[in-house]
Amino acid sequence: MAHLVLDNVTKVFRGQDGREVSAVRDLSLAVGDREFMVIVGPSGCGKTTTLRLIAGLEEPTRGQVVIAGRPVNGLAARHRDLAMIFQHGALYPHLTARENIALGLRLRGAPAAETARRVAAIAETLDLTALLDRHPRALSGGERQRVAIGRALARQAQAFLFDEPFSHLDAQFRAQLRQELHRLRAQLPTAVFVTHDQAEAMALGDRVAVMRDGVLQQVDEPLRVYREPANVFVAGFLGSPPMNLFRGITKPAGLVMLFQGAQGIEIRLPADVSRALADRTGAAVILGIRAEAIGLATDGCAGASTNRVSARVEAVEPLGAVTHLHLVSGGTRFVACGPASSPPAAGSTVVVRFDPAGARCFDPVTGVALG
Ligand code: ADP
Ligand code: MG
Repeated sequence: MAHLVLDNVTKVFRGQDGREVSAVRDLSLAVGDREFMVIVGPSGCGKTTTLRLIAGLEEPTRGQVVIAGRPVNGLAARHRDLAMIFQHGALYPHLTARENIALGLRLRGAPAAETARRVAAIAETLDLTALLDRHPRALSGGERQRVAIGRALARQAQAFLFDEPFSHLDAQFRAQLRQELHRLRAQLPTAVFVTHDQAEAMALGDRVAVMRDGVLQQVDEPLRVYREPANVFVAGFLGSPPMNLFRGITKPAGLVMLFQGAQGIEIRLPADVSRALADRTGAAVILGIRAEAIGLATDGCAGASTNRVSARVEAVEPLGAVTHLHLVSGGTRFVACGPASSPPAAGSTVVVRFDPAGARCFDPVTGVALG
C-alpha cells in the first residue's frame, strides 16, 4: 500500500511582486511503504515545496495529501509523525552530539536507560560513537549531518523527508554519506529524498521522480528513467553526460526507418523505434542516443555511411574507466565513449559508430518520447 500519497496537489505562492507562482502543479505521486523515493530536478522546480507539503509546513492550494491512508490536509506538522532532515542539519549548538540525538526521545519522556541504549545503537550505525561528547562546532560538516540523521532516526518517525541533506558537503563526504544511507536503508521507514544531483538520485532511489517547473515529468526506477526518458528534458537532465540529442527527419528503408540528421548522420533505427515512427514518415524528430552507444569505429574504413560519421575531437575527458570524447560533426556537438587508454587527441578527426539499439525518438515540438 502506498504510504505517502500526493493526489493532484497544487501549491500557489504569491511572490513579493504580487505575482502568483505555482511552485507545484497537479502533482500526483504515491510513495510505497518502506520505499525510498528520490525527487530530483533543477533548483526552483518545487522539490522543497513538495516536502513541506508532505510535512505539513505548507498547505496545498488544491489537492490532497494522504499519509498511511489518512487525509492530513489541515493536520499540524507535529501531528504527522514525520522526521525532516534539512540541507544544513540544524543542531543545537550548546548540546553535544549525544544530547542532540537524544533530544526527541527526552522530550517525549522516554526512560533514561532506553534513551541511552537507543542513542548508542544509532551512534554505532552512523559511526558516531567516538564523537558523541563533542559539540557541533567540533564536528565536520559531514559529521554534523550524520548527527542530524541520527536525531531523526531516534525519533522513529513513520516517514523520513530529506531535503538535499548532502548538497553543501564536498564530493568525498557525499559519497561516504551515500554509503551510510545505503547501509541504513533496512532500518529506514518510508523516505522521500530530494536532491538536484542526478547521480545521487540514480544511486539512492528505489524510484526517481523528475520534476521541472513544478510539474512531474516522469517517475520510475532509476535505470528505466535513464534508458527510457519520457521527454527531452529528462533525457538531458539525467546521466553524465546527458543523452545526445540529434535533430533530423525519418525516412522509410525497407522494413525499418532511417534517421537522417542535419549533419549527414544517417542511422538505421531498430524495429521497435521504427514502429513507433510508422505514421511519421518524413517528419522531423529528435533522436536521443547515449554516449556509451557511440564508440570509435575500429574497422579502419574512413568516411560516413549508415550508423557512422566522421567527427572532429574537440575535447578529451579521461575518467579512468572510460574516456568521454566531445565531438563535433557538421556543426552538431555530441559526446562519445572512447577507450580508457590511448584515446584520440583533441583536434584529431575520428570515425564513430552508432549503436542504435538503445536509441529513443522524441517529438521535436512537444519533446515527448515517441514509443
Ligand atoms: P526547489 O526546492 O526545487 O529549489 P522550491 O520548492 O524551493 O524549489 O521553490 C519552487 C518555486 O516556488 C520557486 O520558484 C520559488 O521561488 C517559489 N517559492 C517557494 N517558496 C515560496 C514562498 N514561500 N513564497 C513565494 N514563492 C515561493
Ligand atoms: Mg529546495
